[in-house]
Amino acid sequence: MPGQLINITIIGAGVSGLTTALLLSQNPRFRVTIVAKYMPGDSPAEYASPWAGANFWPMGAEGSEQAKLEKATWPEMYNLAKNHPDSGIAFQKSRLHTRHEDVGKAGTLFATEDGSPPWWSTLFDDFKSLDKSQMPLDIHTAFEFTSVCINTTIYLHWLLSKCLRNGVVVKRGVVDHVTDAASLHTVGQSHLVVNCTGLMARNLGGVEDKSVVPARGQIMLVRNHPDIMTTASSLVAAQPGDMAYMMCRPGGGGTILGGCYQVDNWNDSPDHKLAERIMKRCVELYPELAKSVDDLSVIRQGVGFRPLRPQGVRLETEHIRGIPVVHNYGHGGWGYQSSYGCAKTVVSLVEQEVGLTAKL
Ligand code: FAD
Repeated sequence: MPGQLINITIIGAGVSGLTTALLLSQNPRFRVTIVAKYMPGDSPAEYASPWAGANFWPMGAEGSEQAKLEKATWPEMYNLAKNHPDSGIAFQKSRLHTRHEDVGKAGTLFATEDGSPPWWSTLFDDFKSLDKSQMPLDIHTAFEFTSVCINTTIYLHWLLSKCLRNGVVVKRGVVDHVTDAASLHTVGQSHLVVNCTGLMARNLGGVEDKSVVPARGQIMLVRNHPDIMTTASSLVAAQPGDMAYMMCRPGGGGTILGGCYQVDNWNDSPDHKLAERIMKRCVELYPELAKSVDDLSVIRQGVGFRPLRPQGVRLETEHIRGIPVVHNYGHGGWGYQSSYGCAKTVVSLVEQEVGLTAKL
């Protein structure tokens, strides 16, 4: 389509839809409309983006597609923290503890059996392992480095306002069949649809990807301000799926205490027993947070569903009823930290589809 303006409808206004819209709208030939059931400011559990901590702690296995997407996102996050404090993203110290029992078993964030540093350690200039003398007795290894913390309330609105500034049209709507989105573009029929529906890709007509399930997360938001992001490996936690982590949202966003990772659990109400365990474990994990659970000043609690696709994020083009649909959904618990890598991949897929070779 040489020289022609290209109409694109994006379904979804979470971090995936908004980041994709932002990058696509940097090309003046692309006219972008977003249609979404939920928008920044809403907070149902099925809309994952407001519930994320959020931070950048790489979780993809070394050499995996996920690791590549995370690696591609880090320079963008770094740039936002360094040069755009209005984005709600700021640098923050991270400390990741591996318990003795979990060495080599707890995933990419934690210590390996042979003691080698994780692949992602080279992303951070100040990555180090703490001395044994600085660690509690039950801890085998503690990694410390400076990453970023994202105040999702500010950041989602910041993305939205950047999109509006680039001429993206945003409207509310519930799309029944993915190809219906093509006729919802404000200027005429869309040439392309981008599917950023997260968990609800499982119900979207024409897609109905039932492999996507919720990985339920429950959080508390407190006023206490420990000024650190920290967690501990949890294979020995009393309850399966329980986790302990905290992150201190910049810009007065409060501190998120988490949490849990409960696969295929659709309960969107907070479980009060779990809330008590979260507070107790977080105070134990980092005593500087509060002297006791009673000293936590709670703002609110809530539940969000991570859009888990066990086989990984879906980033590909499919032709449905003759309409090209580029998919970008299923990011599980790492949608922010892979957001720019994924959105750049969508831009390439769109360019291939419409025969553009120009780079953004
Ligand atoms: P969503 O945010 O769910 O957005 C989906 C959009 O699609 C919404 O606008 C919705 O209304 C719209 N939609 C769906 N179906 C339709 C339809 N039929 N018609 C119209 N609109 C539709 N990630 C990190 O990177 N770092 C973290 O620290 C982190 N912590 C997390 C902690 C918790 C407790 C949770 C729950 C998640 C966490 N995540 C984290 C994961 C991250 O939040 C998600 O991966 C990410 O938000 C997914 O974004 P999304 O835009 O793909 O989906």
